[in-house]
Amino acid sequence: MTIYWERCSICGKYHIVKQCTLIPELLVCPQCCIICPRRRVCPKPVWDIEIKPVIKRRATVTRKREAEKVLMDLLSRLEKT
Ligand SMILES: [Zn+2]
Repeated sequence: MTIYWERCSICGKYHIVKQCTLIPELLVCPQCCIICPRRRVCPKPVWDIEIKPVIKRRATVTRKREAEKVLMDLLSRLEKT
């Protein structure tokens, strides 16, 4: 499977697109694939809703919080001196 950064055949926007499973001539972006009415009959939608990105986002949030904690700690130490 090839991933392109091209114009979506459905909405016309420049997105990361993949070749449609049902109609190989089409390049579809994630949004159009997800809202596609044929998704139910599609054997394997190219844009599968994955849990991975959510996990990634959570990880970055945690990292941000940790960074904030460290910063606040450093700031409080600076204030004391
Ligand atoms: Zn699209």
